[in-house]
Amino acid sequence: MPSSKPATAIIVGSGIVGAATAYFLTRRGIKVTLLDATAPAAGATGAADGAVSVASKRPGPMMEAALAGVALYRKLAEGGLFSDVFKSRSTFIVAASDAECEVLHAHAAALASAGVQVELLSEAGIRQRFPALSYDAKLAVEVFGEGHAIGYQIVHRFLTAAGVVVKRASPIKAILPGRAVRHAAGVVTATGEVPADAVIIAAGNGSAALLGLQNVLVPRKGQLLVTERAQKLNAAMPGSIMSGRYLLSKGSQKGQTIAPRGLGLVIDPLRTGQFLIGGTREDHGDRCANDIDAVTRILRDAVALVPGLADVRLLRNFAGVRTAVVDGLPLIGRIPGYDNAFVATGFEGDGICLGPVTGQTIANIVCGDEAGIDLKPFEPSRFIPREVAA
Ligand SMILES: Cc1cc2nc3c(=O)[nH]c(=O)nc-3n(C[C@H](O)[C@H](O)[C@H](O)COP(=O)(O)OP(=O)(O)OC[C@H]3O[C@@H](n4cnc5c(N)ncnc54)[C@H](O)[C@@H]3O)c2cc1C
Repeated sequence: MPSSKPATAIIVGSGIVGAATAYFLTRRGIKVTLLDATAPAAGATGAADGAVSVASKRPGPMMEAALAGVALYRKLAEGGLFSDVFKSRSTFIVAASDAECEVLHAHAAALASAGVQVELLSEAGIRQRFPALSYDAKLAVEVFGEGHAIGYQIVHRFLTAAGVVVKRASPIKAILPGRAVRHAAGVVTATGEVPADAVIIAAGNGSAALLGLQNVLVPRKGQLLVTERAQKLNAAMPGSIMSGRYLLSKGSQKGQTIAPRGLGLVIDPLRTGQFLIGGTREDHGDRCANDIDAVTRILRDAVALVPGLADVRLLRNFAGVRTAVVDGLPLIGRIPGYDNAFVATGFEGDGICLGPVTGQTIANIVCGDEAGIDLKPFEPSRFIPREVAA
């Protein structure tokens, strides 16, 4: 396909996906206007954990995309852009029951079959490699080559490097159809029309109203906790912990359905010496608040697996809202009915990992180049009818 680079582009949404897209478009010389209904990283990106990880994936399109996502983080860290905001570490998936051990054995084999470097740790192996874990841990799988990043730090890095200032408090109402067939002329805001040669919708849950996807995108709340600094315990943890139950709560295992309120434990030792502990998956109730029941259960599970956490104080808790898609795959690509409008949304619990590689991919297709990753499984046309542009 011949390259057909636009001169200007509007991006709707300044979460990690919009910010990454802005970065990669400006590097190609495209003038970017980035509009947000509220502020940069005000959505899921600013209320996420931040595992840059393939550990919970099964072989398939999400695994392929996540492998590309992790590789890009490494490249940007080596190149300097993410040098001090990407923490390289292993993920340890830990089984505490016979049922979890069974799931974990199968999952480790699946990861290995996709080329991911893993090592099974018996109880004796766990004592040696991860002494901070309690005797509840019966089996662990170390997944090598993973990492962690804080979403709002990545957004800040991208926007600063791109030299893009977000137009805050600018909710977009609709794509502005052009006079020519299949052409978007820009976007419609509360105060008027903003023209551009290309439009990219990266609005997280806000994408539903813009593209008529109310029955396709599902807001999925997650509650997280942050502790005070505990340098000694933090330094004794060679990576993050993901409970076997997290695999089940994320619904990434074959034949799994997600409970109305999934609880799966993740404990991430941060660069600051603090711990980020999560979390829930909830498709009902108040979308933004924490509740004492969830906080209590998360803490109880965390201390059961890492007893040293009992002496560490909880500093704060918060909740964010992921954008899930009913078939479990994001929407990335051209918006049906338009030649020059694109969407990237629906990343559920994987958008920190996938944000940068998605931004790079969108920039490629906006310029008429090869996408770089296989977009067929993520085709927006599986949900967006052609008439959306009319
Ligand atoms: C509790 C929790 C834990 C998570 N943990 C991880 C993890 O460990 N690893 C991982 O990879 N991912 C994780 N995620 C998922 C990740 O945070 C998201 O997938 C990712 O941040 C989505 O980014 P986004 O840019 O698509 O959307 P968002 O960050 O939601 O950004 C969308 C932006 O669009 C703006 N907007 C909406 N509507 C409009 C409109 N009409 N006009 C203008 N602007 C609009 C919003 O204000 C917002 O700023 C987690 C998420 C949560 C909530």
